[in-house]
Amino acid sequence: MNETAFDFSGIDDKYYCNEELGAVWTKEETVFRIWSPEAEKITLNLYGDCKTETPFSRFEMNKNKKGLWEHKAQGDLNGVYYTYSVLIKGAERETIDIYAKSAGVNGKRGMIFDPALTNPEGWEKTSPVNTESVLDAVIYELHVRDFSSDENASFKARGKFSAFCEENVKNQFGGLCGLNYIKELGITHIHLLPVFDYASVDESMEGSFNWGYDPLNFNAPEGSYSTSPYDGFARVRELKRLIMTAHSKGMGIIADVVYNHTYDTDNSPFSLIFPHYYYRHENGNYSNGSGCGNEIASERLMAGKFICDSLCYLLKEYKLDGFRFDLMGLIDIKTLNFCAKKLKEINPYVILYGEGWTGGVSSLPEKYRAVKKNARMVPDYSMFSDDFRDCVKGSVFDDNDQGFINGKAEKNRELMKSVIAGGVYHTEIKRNKEDCFTDNPSQSVNYTESHDNLTFYDKLRVSMKNSSEDNIIAADKMGAALVFLSQGVPFIQAGQEFLRSKNFVHNSYNSPDCVNQLKWNNITIFADMVDYYKGLIKIRKRYPIFRLKSAEEIREKIHFEDLENGAFIAYIGGFSLIVNPSYTVISVNLKDNYYVFADKNKASDYPLYPVSGNLEAAPLSVILLGRC
Ligand code: CA
Repeated sequence: MNETAFDFSGIDDKYYCNEELGAVWTKEETVFRIWSPEAEKITLNLYGDCKTETPFSRFEMNKNKKGLWEHKAQGDLNGVYYTYSVLIKGAERETIDIYAKSAGVNGKRGMIFDPALTNPEGWEKTSPVNTESVLDAVIYELHVRDFSSDENASFKARGKFSAFCEENVKNQFGGLCGLNYIKELGITHIHLLPVFDYASVDESMEGSFNWGYDPLNFNAPEGSYSTSPYDGFARVRELKRLIMTAHSKGMGIIADVVYNHTYDTDNSPFSLIFPHYYYRHENGNYSNGSGCGNEIASERLMAGKFICDSLCYLLKEYKLDGFRFDLMGLIDIKTLNFCAKKLKEINPYVILYGEGWTGGVSSLPEKYRAVKKNARMVPDYSMFSDDFRDCVKGSVFDDNDQGFINGKAEKNRELMKSVIAGGVYHTEIKRNKEDCFTDNPSQSVNYTESHDNLTFYDKLRVSMKNSSEDNIIAADKMGAALVFLSQGVPFIQAGQEFLRSKNFVHNSYNSPDCVNQLKWNNITIFADMVDYYKGLIKIRKRYPIFRLKSAEEIREKIHFEDLENGAFIAYIGGFSLIVNPSYTVISVNLKDNYYVFADKNKASDYPLYPVSGNLEAAPLSVILLGRC
C-alpha cells in the first residue's frame, strides 16, 4: 500500500502487545488496560451510573514501553461505569473503551461487571447446539425488532430481546407465533441482524428502527433491545436469556457482526484512542470500501487482535453458535484464518459465513481480501452465493431482471444445475472450473432473499408483471424447493415462507416497523406456503443425499438430463428432481415406479402418491420423485 502518511508498520513492529485489554473485573480489584502508543496521558474516569456528569474517581494511568496503559483499581467495581480521557497532541477527549463489555444508554460509557451476575437462571446448563456440519443447518435471518413489533401478535416485550422468551404468543387467528413457530418450521439456526451496540437508534426513546449496520461498541449488546437501556446489566442478561431460550428449543443463534467499519470516523472511540491506526487510507483520505465512510484496517496487528479478541469473547460469554460477517471481503484473509483457529478452540462446531464482497472500493489489495474469488483461501468460512441468488431470480440491482424461474430459464439453465450441485465443478455442466468459487459445498450459502434488496415475493411480483398471482406463488415455491434441495447451506429471510413483502422497499434499513415487521397473521393466511417450506425442510433433514459433504460425492451422485423449454431433471442419488420453469406442461416418460415427495402443491418427507409411466410436469413446478 502506498500510504506513507499513514504507514503504521513501524508501530506494529515496535508496539504490538498481546495483553488482555479492557476492564478485567475480580471482586478484589479491576485491572484496566488500554493500548495507545501515541497518547501522552490517559486518565481513567469512574462513574456511579451512566448519567451523572462528574466521575466519583479519576486515576492517571501508567504507560509501558509497548504503549500499553494500565491501572489497577482496588475494591469491587461491579456495576461501575467508566471512560478514558485520552490526551493526544495537546487535545484531551473522553471516550468509551473499545473493549467495553457492556454500556450505559447510547453506548457512551462502559460498565464494569461480574459476568456471573448477568447469567440467567440455568445458564450453566445451556450450550450451543453443535451441528456437526454447516450443511446440516437451516438458517433463518431475523431482526430482533421485526420479530415482535407486529401488534396483531400478542407479544408483551415488543421489539426487545425478551420477546424471544415469551410462550403462547398468538396471532389474531389463534395461530402460534414466536420462537415456537420458528422451531416448528424446522429451522436449526436463527441468524440475528446486529445485536451488538449500534449508533443510529436513540436508546432513550422508544420506537425507531434500524438494521444496526452502524456499529459503535462491538462487545456490548444493543441497548434499545433491552428493557432498561440505562442499566448495563439488563442488555447482557436479556441477550443471554434469548440465546438460552433458543438453545432450550434446540436452535442455535448466529450473530451478525460488522467488523468492517465503524459508524463514526474521526470521532469514533477507535479514533479518539489512536487516530487513524484502526482505519485504512487511500491518498491521504479514509478508504471507503464499506460505503459508510471508513473501513477497519484488520491487517494492522492491534486491529486484528481486537477483532479476534472480540469474537472469542462473544462466542464464549454468550455461548453463540456462529457468526455472520458483514462485508467480509473487507477483512483480510490472514486475520480471518487466525480468528477461525481461535474460535474453533472454543467451539469446534462454530458456524462462520459472510458476504464475500465489499461495499465500495477498498485500498486493501484484492489478493488479501476474503472475497468470493478467494473463498478457497478461507476454507472455514462459507459465503453467500450471489450466483445462486441471481441465477434463480435475476439481478438484485435491476428489479425487472429475470432468472431461471421468472422468465429466463434457458439462459440460466447451466448455472442453475451448477448451483444445485453446490456450485462445485461438475463435468456434466457447461461451466468453467474457474467460475466455480469453491470446491466445497459447505462454502456455498444458497439463498434467494435476505434483508437487502427486494424480498423474493416482491421481486417476483415486479419481474413477473404479466403473470397471474397463481404463477407468482408457483415461482415462489420453486425458489423454495431450489434453496432446500440444492447442495450447500440453505438460508432464508424470516417471513419468506409466508410471502414477506416490504412494499417494494429495496433498502429498508431505517424504514418504519410497518414495512419491516413480520406480519404474523400471514402465517395463517398463507398456511399453505408455510407448510410447503416445512415439507421441504423435512425432506432435506431426513435424506442426507441433499447434504453431501464433498465435491467428489456430488460429482458421483448427482447427474443431469435436459428437457425442453429450459427444464431439466437432476438425479440426486435415488431421487429425481424435475424442474420445469416454463409455462407449458412437460411430459416425462418414467422408466420405473416412483413416489412423489414434492409437487406444485405439496412437499413431504414421506411419499405423497405413486406415479409411473407418463408424468405430466405442471408449468412452473418442481417435482421430487423417489423410490421407497
Ligand atoms: Ca445503541
